[in-house]
Amino acid sequence: MTAQREQLEADVLIVGAGPAGLACALRLANLIKAHNASGAKPELSAENIYVLEKGREIGAHQLSGAIMNPKALAELVPDFEKSAPLDTPVTDSAALFFTEKSSFRFPITPPPFVNTGNYVVSLNKVVKWLGEKVEAAAVNVFKEFGGAQLIYERDGIGGVITEDKGIDKNGNPKDNYQPGYELKAKVTVLAEGTRGSLTKELVAKRKLDNINPQSYGIGVKELWEVQPDKIKPGYVAHTLGWPVPSSMYGGGWIYGLSNNRVSIGLVIALEYADPRFDAHATFQKWKTNPFVRNMLEGGKLVRYGAKSLPYGGWYSMPKNYFDGGLIVGDSGSFLDSQKLKGIHLAIKSGMLAAETIFEALKSGDTSAKTLSAYQTKVENSYIKKELWKVRNFHQGFSHGQFRGFINTAFQQITGGRGFIDPMRAHAGHEAYKRISGAPAEARFAGDGKLTFDRLTDVYHSGTRHEEDQPCHLHVADLNTCATKCVEEYGNPCQYFCPAAVYEMVKDGAGQKLKVNFANCVHCKTCDIADPYQIITWVVPEGGGGPNYEGM
Ligand code: SF4
Repeated sequence: MTAQREQLEADVLIVGAGPAGLACALRLANLIKAHNASGAKPELSAENIYVLEKGREIGAHQLSGAIMNPKALAELVPDFEKSAPLDTPVTDSAALFFTEKSSFRFPITPPPFVNTGNYVVSLNKVVKWLGEKVEAAAVNVFKEFGGAQLIYERDGIGGVITEDKGIDKNGNPKDNYQPGYELKAKVTVLAEGTRGSLTKELVAKRKLDNINPQSYGIGVKELWEVQPDKIKPGYVAHTLGWPVPSSMYGGGWIYGLSNNRVSIGLVIALEYADPRFDAHATFQKWKTNPFVRNMLEGGKLVRYGAKSLPYGGWYSMPKNYFDGGLIVGDSGSFLDSQKLKGIHLAIKSGMLAAETIFEALKSGDTSAKTLSAYQTKVENSYIKKELWKVRNFHQGFSHGQFRGFINTAFQQITGGRGFIDPMRAHAGHEAYKRISGAPAEARFAGDGKLTFDRLTDVYHSGTRHEEDQPCHLHVADLNTCATKCVEEYGNPCQYFCPAAVYEMVKDGAGQKLKVNFANCVHCKTCDIADPYQIITWVVPEGGGGPNYEGM
């Protein structure tokens, strides 16, 4: 089907309305306002900045453990404390060690876990608030539109095509068919979050990879309303130990919010050996530790979500500038994997991108040469300072926690260098060991009060997709799933997906893959962790996906 597409032209097109994309839009709109007010030429317009948001609302797809260092927000919105929905300042930072039946608090909280001066926030609300500021600055925000294809130009990009709407599951147009727009721009900013589908394609096509492939983690999270006095607002704890095996990298968190709400979750590096490891089930077991059980007793589950994180750090950061474009936020690996903090780095990267673009628009030159100023700005900012100190941190855990802690200690005293610099990394999916033939354990069912199965949790994510549309999870070779993967890895997609999207069902004497795409919470784990790298996540029809309101 060849679509007749409407073409629109913008100065700047930002794909993704998360913290990085919105910070870019707002900073640029403010620079343009001051520039025009000064009478300088050429006159620019904030209306020529377009932002695409694939969710139903700005913030609908924003999920985070949500401790925010406010320093970048203070630069972007100097009086942010007057109106930003910050929820509560951190009042206590604890590090806990868990066994199955007990827990103890480390007498001294290790520095990466100290959160004095930070806020526990609902990222969904902060992003919504930022979105209102962006819209008030005359920027055009298109909700329910995702970037589906890149428009390649020069040695970079010249815009994107949004997804076609109103196509049925067989690929035929329905009555409400609407072809995607061809959005051309002088500068396109990829702010898609972790493992952005366009960013992935561009990085591969233009060979923008750094010396290490990107490493990822998966965070599985719930928001609970608990009984009064079970947790103080601003209490923050990170947990080590059970039930995460010592050969793996991961841990839990507990963040006390206002109004007796608590955010809890578990984050696991997607580079483990057991292809049947199930991060969702492990998180559910974590809740049965007496410390967590007691805190949640009498409370109720409010929301569920999952998100992947870019763990790779400085040596996994792709080249973030090219002809006609820049990469910001999680798409560009702006995350401190030691502190698990990325919101302030995402905002700062968006602001630096805006400053670069502003100069490029004034000069009329949006080539890679001019846009390379972005990299220089990143290197001269606190982004590099923070990420350089932990440049080998995550790789140090590739042989388990014990060696990881020794590496970390040595990195601390050598400014991040450690024993080897740069420490190399492998793609996480290469770590799988083949299954031995032992039958898989029964799937985790949950008790329906404290612990839940995946479908119950998905229900609490507010996820919704139009069912009659093409599946947005492209599996390149279903035969591999039904034959090779059954024998070699036992179909890990059934275990790593935290939303029960992938199911092996009986097919005559064998099995075949069934993809329940409507459950997808857009965490991108399947695109990352599939052992044969044959799953590609693409944007579904705009508006589909989770609704993380309140998280
Ligand atoms: Fe995440 Fe993929 Fe499952 Fe969707 S299908 S929830 S992106 S693992």
